[in-house]
Amino acid sequence: MRFASLGSGSAGNALIIESGQTRILLDCGFGIRETLNRLSRLDVSVESLDGILVTHEHDDHAGGVFRLASRYRIPVWLTHGTFSMSSRYFPNQRSFVHHLIGSHEPFSIQDLEILPFPVPHDAREPVQFVVSNGKHKLGVLTDTGESTVHIERMLNGCDALVLECNHDIDMLMNGPYARPLKQRVSGRLGHLDNMAAAQLVSALDNSKLKHMIAAHLSAQNNHPSLVRKALSQALKCEESWIEIADQEKGIDWRSLG
Ligand SMILES: [Zn+2]
Ligand SMILES: [Zn+2]
Repeated sequence: MRFASLGSGSAGNALIIESGQTRILLDCGFGIRETLNRLSRLDVSVESLDGILVTHEHDDHAGGVFRLASRYRIPVWLTHGTFSMSSRYFPNQRSFVHHLIGSHEPFSIQDLEILPFPVPHDAREPVQFVVSNGKHKLGVLTDTGESTVHIERMLNGCDALVLECNHDIDMLMNGPYARPLKQRVSGRLGHLDNMAAAQLVSALDNSKLKHMIAAHLSAQNNHPSLVRKALSQALKCEESWIEIADQEKGIDWRSLG
């Protein structure tokens, strides 16, 4: 099993996850041409995708999903709330297949087992996912205002984590955003800051953790060095061990074994 990021941040997010012959995208906030370019960097043809999981309806996650799904006939898995809020993205002729999921109900896409879990974020019915092939587990958590007991239960014992480190709280508060946006981003339905991410990770069973990927960093209100510092202290590891999925390059393939 392996995974890679096509890019992560407020201008677009997408992860690709593969096990055996099964390949899925998790979110797609990039346009079609951009997505194809980014897939080709990873040596992936769009025709080989078996499905797209969608976490929530915000542009940077869902903006590219439905055109891609329609043009290449890729089935989409999403909650009812996300589906109902995404109709503005649908092309005139909706020609993709979709599967509605329950935010607590595991399901499979061929070789991959998908465990959704709900998160507090300002969308209609947002979820995040743990993806497993039965042997290894990748936990993904972005776009959550705070952690919850349930989130921690879901992310325990993963082999790899992709975790939001959206902002440094001081940079956000002293930065250029207008006050309402500062409140939205730092609020309980907003985004996880570096310290909250560090606290979350230090509460987990990390005995199997091989890859720690920080994601969804704000370009204005964060800096990779602050993220590395916060997470390495939480994990008691070298700063260089923390990887960052940035907006342009994402991350190259990482293997879970
Ligand atoms: Zn986002
Ligand atoms: Zn969001």
